[in-house]
Amino acid sequence: IKKPGQPISRGHKNYELMLNLQLGIRHSVGKHALKSRDLKASDFEPREKYWTRFPSEGSKHTPPHQSIDFKWKDYCSMVFRHLRELFGIDPAEYMLAICGSDALREFSSPGKSGSCFYLTQDDRYIIKTCKKAEVMVLIRMLPKYYEHVSKYKNTLVTKFFGVHCVKPIGGQKTRFIVMGNLFHSEYRIHKIFDLKGSSHGRSIDKPEGEIDETTTLKDLDLNFVFRLQQSWFLELMRQVDKDCEFLETEKIMDYSLLIGLHFRDDCYASDRGMSPTGRAGKCQDKSSPRGDEIFKSDTEDRHWIMEGKRPFIRLGANMPARAERLSRVECEAGNGPPRTPNGNNIGGGGGEVFDVILYFGIIDILQDYDISKKLEHAYKSLQVDPISISAVDPKLYSKRFRDFMHRVFVEDE
Ligand code: ATP
Ligand code: CA
Ligand code: CA
Repeated sequence: IKKPGQPISRGHKNYELMLNLQLGIRHSVGKHALKSRDLKASDFEPREKYWTRFPSEGSKHTPPHQSIDFKWKDYCSMVFRHLRELFGIDPAEYMLAICGSDALREFSSPGKSGSCFYLTQDDRYIIKTCKKAEVMVLIRMLPKYYEHVSKYKNTLVTKFFGVHCVKPIGGQKTRFIVMGNLFHSEYRIHKIFDLKGSSHGRSIDKPEGEIDETTTLKDLDLNFVFRLQQSWFLELMRQVDKDCEFLETEKIMDYSLLIGLHFRDDCYASDRGMSPTGRAGKCQDKSSPRGDEIFKSDTEDRHWIMEGKRPFIRLGANMPARAERLSRVECEAGNGPPRTPNGNNIGGGGGEVFDVILYFGIIDILQDYDISKKLEHAYKSLQVDPISISAVDPKLYSKRFRDFMHRVFVEDE
């Protein structure tokens, strides 16, 4: 399978940044490797951040390196050490994944924010550059975030492993967060949807020929309904409610449910006749194992939950479901369930696809309803129905998001 993104090797414009980031992470993780202690309230304070100088000739605490001198900042590092432990991350493995040679690949983001994304070679971690305001939001919510992820082991919200800043001497600051890749899996992800529950501008704006498995599709492109066994459905909806409640109290909006689909039968991966990749009917991929094996093999995650027809179901990371593709006839009939969540008429074969495996989580949770989002709302409200705009206040955002989830996921009768 083709790995997404471009390796950052010597000569790449962000090669120096990668080297600095690797030296910094090694320093940060190594610093806490041996000594652990309970967290104190002061560990969460915004001023709990330190600059470390990395002169190229090396210093008492830092190794010599080939890059130019730079400074490195860690935010609330003791808290993130505890978070990594809570999320079951082995420090040595974490360090190796990020700091090994040729470790990172840069992938171009479909987002409009201008952030850069780096994926580790083992696919487990994503490093996202972010704005100062986003770092502030994360640090502000850190005590509540810590509480939330400790309390809800099956939370869908992004797992954060660290927040840092690099500043080359005489250069610009680059802030970034390290988080879990939702699609870390030995199984191929055939389709990706980024869903907000809003409709204005929420469709992919690429010509069909450029859409492939790595393309992130949006709300209006969604032509599936996922049928879940009752107990999983209830558990999922309960967790979505809890997570949205948390985000709402933190005044967060603009987040998405990111869904990756693995079709057990690869024939369906290309969407039968409406293939975005133009590879309809390609069935050679026999890499998909029987469903039962999938759940046993994912032991590194901590979320083993319920027993169902299959041995174990893990919620919040991946989940088996029946996906139903909606036909034009059903969409147009207008009354009989199911309908596309967005009521859209996308066409295609219709009917049930076999089983799929869903990988999902709530991402991009560091945007508060700030002045720029309020202005965006005011401006777009002049042109379209305000409820269709992504930028709305956190309360409305959360309600609309949850309502939409109830249309995407339904109880299997
Ligand atoms: P914008 O604010 O314009 O939406 P952004 O730069 O903040 O964009 P995100 O929404 O965080 O970017 O992410 C953009 C895309 O990157 C997602 O739609 C998804 O395809 C991918 N992505 C982001 N976070 C993850 C993650 N944790 N695991 C897997 N893929 C991710
Ligand atoms: Ca986003
Ligand atoms: Ca964003």
